[in-house]
Amino acid sequence: MIATPISSMIDLRSDTVTTPSTQMREAAKTAEVGDDVYHEDPTVDRLQSAVADRLGFEAALYVPSGTMGNQVAVRTHTERGQEVILDKQSHIYKWELGGIAQLSGLQARTIDASPRGIPSPEQISDSYIKQSLHRPGTGLVCLENTHNSRGGLAITPERIDAAAQAAHDFDIPVHLDGARLFNAAVAHDVPAERFTEHIDSVSLCLSKGLGAPVGSVIAGSESFIEQARRVRKLFGGGMRQAGIIAGPALVALENIDRLSTDHTNAQRLADGLARLPDISVTEPETNIVLVDTTRLDWNGEQFLSKCQDVGVLGTEYGEQTARFCTHLDVDRSEIELAIERIQSLIET
Ligand SMILES: *Cc1c(COP(=O)(O)O)cnc(C)c1O
Repeated sequence: MIATPISSMIDLRSDTVTTPSTQMREAAKTAEVGDDVYHEDPTVDRLQSAVADRLGFEAALYVPSGTMGNQVAVRTHTERGQEVILDKQSHIYKWELGGIAQLSGLQARTIDASPRGIPSPEQISDSYIKQSLHRPGTGLVCLENTHNSRGGLAITPERIDAAAQAAHDFDIPVHLDGARLFNAAVAHDVPAERFTEHIDSVSLCLSKGLGAPVGSVIAGSESFIEQARRVRKLFGGGMRQAGIIAGPALVALENIDRLSTDHTNAQRLADGLARLPDISVTEPETNIVLVDTTRLDWNGEQFLSKCQDVGVLGTEYGEQTARFCTHLDVDRSEIELAIERIQSLIET
């Protein structure tokens, strides 16, 4: 088999692989900047206000990555030694190098919030620990929407509200890892701020489906963000003339409505792959398609290496699972081509 040249690879590894548009590069070039550690960058301020407004929060803070956004938020809400309640498949627990323990001295209380990754009110009350001489006490509940590891599931605002209510009944704050919150908003056709009505903070990635080159934003109350600004500095995330990247990130906010195109493409990819023999596909709710390779007698890694040979890239997601993610830089014709390429692989 002749290896597919890199240039014609269809890259479905993640929605983070998009490259900045001409308009974004132009925004970088013309951005008005200042030293953001001194809080003097007008473009960063504009970005933070735009996100805070959209999510119904008083204030927001620009951070270099989604991981830092979550870690800063978690640290800001908690005290050393406390427990954090989270789904065992959550990004914060699973994919952030145990950061809550390493950076903030916290203990994870994981729960199995199957199947959708949103803990029920009962799970939250059952996991709550009251502080005592012998027990650390619960300091925070973390939620995630869309839920990445569970296949980009779009949790409803009502489920978020119910979980938040259960936490607040114990006076515990709630952080929402909303790396792809706009995907959930578009999938449910409700404004993003509807999901954040009852939560205390949110983090949001600008560099995924929205296509910004760099950055995430966390949002919350004025006092939360004031404290978070110090934690961001502590974690090394204070940036200087960050308007250079905040400018393109502002342009990225214009891409919210077009996320529906990624969802349609994911649906098309799932339908196309589901028709192939021995492939099982999880019905996508947003821009993530999970493929189960068990019946092919290949593990996820073998399947993906064969996909790569025919020019389609995805990521391994567990032993028998591959993940394909649609985004701004793959159009419908490339999705059709990806299906054809994978078909050629399976039928030979
Ligand atoms: C991608 C992602 C993050 C982390 O974002 P990075 O910018 O890669 O650090 C956090 N949470 C979820 C749910 C994600 O999908």
